[in-house]
Amino acid sequence: MRLCVFDLDHTLVNSPLDLAAMALDMRALLERTHGPLPERGERYRVGELIAHCREKHPGLEPDLWALALDHERRAVADAWLEPGALDAITGARAAGFDVALWTNNAREVTTQALDRFDLARHFDLIVTRDEMRALKPDPDGWRVIAERFMHLTDAVVVGDSWVDGLAAQKAGVPFVAYRAREADLARWQIAPVARLDALTDLPAWLISRSATGSPGRSERGGVWGAMSGPPSS
Ligand SMILES: [Mg+2]
Repeated sequence: MRLCVFDLDHTLVNSPLDLAAMALDMRALLERTHGPLPERGERYRVGELIAHCREKHPGLEPDLWALALDHERRAVADAWLEPGALDAITGARAAGFDVALWTNNAREVTTQALDRFDLARHFDLIVTRDEMRALKPDPDGWRVIAERFMHLTDAVVVGDSWVDGLAAQKAGVPFVAYRAREADLARWQIAPVARLDALTDLPAWLISRSATGSPGRSERGGVWGAMSGPPSS
């Protein structure tokens, strides 16, 4: 069994969702309640703020998630389909791959976005943050996917962000970068198996991957169908 896993935001569906603004609001809420976070050269990301909150101020975590959901609800109202998204999904199926979604977005907002473009029926599995213990770049979502697909001979993760790439890498799954920022990939030492500028190129790439004999087991030693331990890093 082969599996193609897609990220949602900025991969299949685009929206004005501004994760940096979301993180700023979260940080402000945390700091209003519990005092300033240490200054640092770069912004705190959503996943980091959630992790910090969960560890230090668990009572506030629901408020942080409510803030995230508010941003996401507003963004999905103005969402649009990424060009070639439907071709990529149906093309992956036609190439013999099952299709799954792995998104940091909430189940409620994911459902809304998928329904809007009539995409939900194309997926064998939809994994949102409601089903995960930690957001990408944590690989926990792969645990959920691997529980469902027990007999994988090949899998790839397709996403636009280093966050997807790092999560895939930690899970031992090859990453297909869709218009990802090269500087981010380099910084996080992510080596995609392919780089796509157009989603419409994905089906042909999947077909050629199948034809040339993809690795049944990851070069990194990950074991399909079971949660592979992340590399020692
Ligand atoms: Mg994305």
